[in-house]
Amino acid sequence: MNQIMIDGSVNPGVLVKHLSKVTANAETVARTIIVSNRIPSPTEAGATAGGLAVALADVAVPGSIWFGWSGQRAEETSTQANVSSIGGVTYATLNIAERDYQKFYNGFSNGALWPLLHFRTGLLRFNQPDYDAYRRVNRDFARALVPFLKPGDLIWIHDYQLLTMAAELRELGITNRIGFFLHVPFVPPALLNVLPPAAEIMAAMSACDVVGFQTVADRRAFLDNAIALLHVRPDHYNCFQFLNRTVSAVVTPVGINAAKFSQLAERAEHTVDARRMHESLGDRKFVLGVDRLDYSKGLPQRFEAFGRLLSSFPEHRRHVNFLQIAARSRQEIGSYQTLRRELDRRAGDINGEFSDFDWVPLRYMTHPVKRNAIAGFYRRANIGLVTPLRDGMNLVAKEYVAAQNEADPGVLILSRFAGAADELTEALIVNPFNADEVAGALHRGLVMPLPERRERHRALLAKVRTTTAQHFCEQFVSHLRAPASI
Ligand code: ADP
Repeated sequence: MNQIMIDGSVNPGVLVKHLSKVTANAETVARTIIVSNRIPSPTEAGATAGGLAVALADVAVPGSIWFGWSGQRAEETSTQANVSSIGGVTYATLNIAERDYQKFYNGFSNGALWPLLHFRTGLLRFNQPDYDAYRRVNRDFARALVPFLKPGDLIWIHDYQLLTMAAELRELGITNRIGFFLHVPFVPPALLNVLPPAAEIMAAMSACDVVGFQTVADRRAFLDNAIALLHVRPDHYNCFQFLNRTVSAVVTPVGINAAKFSQLAERAEHTVDARRMHESLGDRKFVLGVDRLDYSKGLPQRFEAFGRLLSSFPEHRRHVNFLQIAARSRQEIGSYQTLRRELDRRAGDINGEFSDFDWVPLRYMTHPVKRNAIAGFYRRANIGLVTPLRDGMNLVAKEYVAAQNEADPGVLILSRFAGAADELTEALIVNPFNADEVAGALHRGLVMPLPERRERHRALLAKVRTTTAQHFCEQFVSHLRAPASI
């Protein structure tokens, strides 16, 4: 399970299930309306790799509404949502006008916000028409959501594509409690200020009652921006007053359904894919990276570090294979095309330098892989190499831990700039910009004795099993339900 689609959008299908449980257990039953940029159509759900199929399969309990973009582009943005009900969950979807899509999605969301929120100001492309379209789509979402709302409903909006939607709902007179959760990192004032509408965005986010983040550092950055741009004074409980409302900033890290993922990985050991992988590796050690092909994931640096392993620790030559699965994403955006060309070149360089006639050190593929195959590959991998330059959480790290055989687990190498590093401290924590350090960690992981591997894994698994997706939902919704005491 996961909450992230292969395009990097949040896929809260699984959250619907957990929310339904949260709601069902509550004494006062409040409906939770989940709003996310992207919602898969039922037919797509079965066919798409990654968390999508699993997430929808998880949606079994009736009660909640999931509202968002259908994934379809049309001549005009829908003014009314298209409603369907599957397994008791109501899906309300909108089509987005082609001209808005380009500006809202490729333009402001992924061309400005995504690089900025991943600390890559050099890649940020701002232009006013893109931002206007972003505001327009957020407004259209708000208008189309209003007819679904009843007094007492809790509204939970997800992620960076919808930062201004809460403000639009308030404009339309909606007084329900609204929560917003940011799945990506947040940046300190020195960086947010690069964005011309920084103050407007901060004000729009502060139309929520609860704003949630993956890490304490992300929340700190939000509060620092609120102080700098909105001139508010947060209290010791991370709450502040803004336009007659108490805004509460909370930290609720996202997790996975660890038990289910462990089962998936265990079963995947016996599949054809796992057998083919096993045969292709022989008795060589196996290093695995699984990511979207995105510049936040540190893939060129990761390739360089693997090359450094082979040059600095020649004893591993011929005894290790590195597979990088990097599913293409957002290919309409120039920086993604450039990244792809760079990776092609680097992979060629490494294989050209180190391959032998019967051994190719680096395997690199750019198409999505079935979820159960990935789970099986994780389980076979001696090292899970997760080295983003910046990441909100990184669910791959958690999936890798959950997938391991407890009797003979692999080693997680994790970037200190992934949100997951706050929790998963028993991983080998590295600075992904330092190729020597990552190469050293690879060497250490490849030769790590079984007792140390087991000890580290036991601690990591306990955490991954505690801070699950359900835990995330329960935490966030309890904040959303309870008015802050300021
Ligand atoms: P992001 O949301 O930035 O893509 P995460 O690590 O948080 O990063 O989540 C990625 C999710 O997508 C994980 O559940 C992972 O299993 C899945 N995924 C990543 N790459 C692939 C791929 N190449 N094929 C299929 N699923 C993938």
